[in-house]
Amino acid sequence: MSTIFTQIVEGEIPARIVYEDETTIAFLDANPLAPGHTLVIPKDEYERVNDMPEDVAADVYATIHRLVPAVEDSVDADASTVAFNNGEAAGQEVPHVHCHIVPRFEGDGAGPIHSLFSDAETFDVADLDQITEDLSDDELDEIAADIESRA
Ligand code: 5GP
Repeated sequence: MSTIFTQIVEGEIPARIVYEDETTIAFLDANPLAPGHTLVIPKDEYERVNDMPEDVAADVYATIHRLVPAVEDSVDADASTVAFNNGEAAGQEVPHVHCHIVPRFEGDGAGPIHSLFSDAETFDVADLDQITEDLSDDELDEIAADIESRA
């Protein structure tokens, strides 16, 4: 069963398509968080950012780079939030990687991405004590070194 976004790519369900090239497509979100809320996707189905080959990721980023000013200018936005919900635990509902470009306006009250965590509970993750600012310098050094070794 193909994803709803593949069905848009295939023209099986309608969407307000704002950009398309060989490997990517962008269309308005059906339930916009702000006027102009746009989704950018690879045409091929990959569930998460992690699953995209490098060339596809580069194509997706090129489309994001092209669309961000177009979206902002079209609705006279002051800024935009550009984000992926990358995986179910991060709130991803459609299992076909997509970047949200959400126009932002002075005083819209939505806050930065950091506000997602403002009311979050503190809980244990793997062998980390907490995922809060309580992390010690040693723990932060360890995390940074681990990411660096995998990058
Ligand atoms: P997610 O929560 O997976 O990051 O976001 C999925 C987004 O896709 C939501 O913002 C939702 O409004 C949008 N969406 C879901 N189904 C459709 C659809 O059929 N057409 C369009 N244009 N957007 C959709």
